[in-house]
Amino acid sequence: MSIPATVTVLGCGNSMGTPVIGCSCAVCTGGNPKNMRMRASILIESATTKVLIDCGPDVRYQALKFGFTTVDAVVLTHAHADHIGGADEIRNFNIANNDWMVVYGDIETLREFAHRCDYMFHNSRNVDGNWFKPCVIASRIEHNKALTIGDITLLPIHAKHGRMDVLGFRIGDFAYMTDCHLIPEASLALMQGLDTLIIDCVNWEITHPSPTHSDWVNTAKWIEQLAPKTAFLTHMSHHMDYADTEARTPAHVHPAHDGLRIDVLSRSF
Ligand SMILES: [Zn+2]
Ligand SMILES: [Zn+2]
Ligand SMILES: [Zn+2]
Repeated sequence: MSIPATVTVLGCGNSMGTPVIGCSCAVCTGGNPKNMRMRASILIESATTKVLIDCGPDVRYQALKFGFTTVDAVVLTHAHADHIGGADEIRNFNIANNDWMVVYGDIETLREFAHRCDYMFHNSRNVDGNWFKPCVIASRIEHNKALTIGDITLLPIHAKHGRMDVLGFRIGDFAYMTDCHLIPEASLALMQGLDTLIIDCVNWEITHPSPTHSDWVNTAKWIEQLAPKTAFLTHMSHHMDYADTEARTPAHVHPAHDGLRIDVLSRSF
């Protein structure tokens, strides 16, 4: 059975966001709203379930701007600050749900998240039953093993982000792969037959050694190999102007923009 769902790109910027504080480049100062990129995150919502992928420093404004008041679960791709730095806002979701929030991640991500956000795991609601701090429960997910949250089924896909492991997610024939420089063959095999792919592309060309992200040279190869009907670039830095990127990429490849919505069909794997 297929469940209709919508993916909203809440942010498609790199770790600094665009505009970058103090930068006077044309992308940062040009005023194109599609160059205003918050930190990378997506929301997947069906009629009954909302799943937030990553919870970065912009999550408060993302919730206000894109109109979601709570979510049913938070799923982490990895524990870098631009993906977990807004976890304190989970408190609002605790209040809305009057319940603890389950945070999903692989074991290394959960370990790092628990290390940085230790207080969120403690049972210290106040006497009136108010949620005066975020309250979370960790749930471990395994690489390449599907999990179902409400009526949304996600297939976690393992990739490398520098020395770190990172998870991408496939929902039906949609896949989201942020923060990666290498996708193992076994993971590429799980990404066949996609309608839509959102994929890391931080810059046109990365010249420094030991990259943690993909550049257009590399991302274009992934897109050619995987042949999705449509691909969107994410985690873009201020080196990538929206209009210029649209012009320089093939017809079925586009820069993402904050607020982009994609219809997907969730199904079991
Ligand atoms: Zn990132
Ligand atoms: Zn700039
Ligand atoms: Zn990262």
